[in-house]
Amino acid sequence: MANDYLVVVDMQKDFVDGSLGTPEAQAIADAVAERARTFEGTVVFTRDTHEENYLETQEGTKLPVVHCVRDTPGWQLVPALEEVRRERDAVVFDKPTFGSVALVEWLAIQNDQQPIDSIELVGLCTDICVVSNALLIKAHFPELPVRVEAALCAGVTPDAHEAALATMRSCQVEVL
Ligand SMILES: [Zn+2]
Repeated sequence: MANDYLVVVDMQKDFVDGSLGTPEAQAIADAVAERARTFEGTVVFTRDTHEENYLETQEGTKLPVVHCVRDTPGWQLVPALEEVRRERDAVVFDKPTFGSVALVEWLAIQNDQQPIDSIELVGLCTDICVVSNALLIKAHFPELPVRVEAALCAGVTPDAHEAALATMRSCQVEVL
């Protein structure tokens, strides 16, 4: 049986209908939940995670919109994804920045135990955390197919979404 992984990136309230929400993110939420529910393989989640000092961080000075502060409602996964996370008892990586080093370290351990066949990413935002994690994963696993489902991702803007997909294609991430 294939050993496939699905990484659901930052499907949190603040990125869907909270402080940094977009209509595009709202439009994909149910379909992302369905993909995560029915995925044949291992599903893991990431959560963008900031502390109370967000506005003083590098990210906060460049993007002065408070979001995903740990233990606030906006930090939680949206309900449909939170339900899937509980159903599947999935691992969650709380990450302080765009790409998750802890995620790739964990994937490397899984890969040593049982070789991974493919890694797919879905979620938010295409042009920030999806592309960051896709390229981080590709750097650690150059021989693995790394896939992104374009219809299950949304960007900060539709143009930024398309630009990130183009960048990922250039870097041999399969855009589905
Ligand atoms: Zn953030």
